[in-house]
Amino acid sequence: MLNEVKEVITAPIEVAKAMGITLKQLLRGPVTNQFPDEPAQVYPRFRGRHTLKRYENGLERCIGCALCAAACPTGCIYVEAAENTDEDRHSPGERYAKIYDINMLRCIFCGYCAEACPTEAIVLEHDFTLAEYDRWDAVYSKERLLEPNNPEYLVVRDDEVFVKAKTWSNK
Ligand code: SF4
Ligand code: SF4
Repeated sequence: MLNEVKEVITAPIEVAKAMGITLKQLLRGPVTNQFPDEPAQVYPRFRGRHTLKRYENGLERCIGCALCAAACPTGCIYVEAAENTDEDRHSPGERYAKIYDINMLRCIFCGYCAEACPTEAIVLEHDFTLAEYDRWDAVYSKERLLEPNNPEYLVVRDDEVFVKAKTWSNK
C-alpha cells in the first residue's frame, strides 16, 4: 500500500521532469548542419578515410611489412612488397609497398591498422565522404591513399567546443 502511495506522488514529478527536458530542447536553436554548404564538424578522434604518409623528404613511410593487413580484423588491406634499389627508391628501408589496397566497403574503421604500423605510415584521418557509384571505386589504391586529402568541407572541433561541463559519465 505504501509503495502505491509513493508511486502516486512520485510519478507526476518524474513526468514533469521529463517534460521539462523536452521543453528545454524546444527553446534551443536547430543543430542541423547544412552540409555541404556549411562544413561538417568532426571530433578530433573521429576515424575516417585512411591516408598513407610520406616523410618530409618525400619518401614513403610504408615499408610493405603488411603488419597492418595482419592486424585488420576484416581482411580489407592487401599489401604486396618489393625491394627498393638505389635507382628506384620509394621508402628508406629495404622494401616498399608495390601494391597497397584498402577495400573501404569492408573497413570498420577500428584503427587497428594504424596501431600496428611501425612507421606510422597508415593513418585514419577525418574524411567521411566515402560513397561511390561503383563498388570497385571503393577499393582505394596506394596512389589514391598517398594523395594529400584535406577536404575543405571538414572542420575538426577542438576540445573546448565539444567537451561539455556535464556528460553522462560525470554528472
Ligand atoms: S580501420 Fe580496421 S577494418 Fe579498416 S583497414 Fe584498418 S584495421 Fe582494417
Ligand atoms: S602501412 Fe605500416 S604496417 Fe602497413 S605495410 Fe606499410 S609499414 Fe607495414
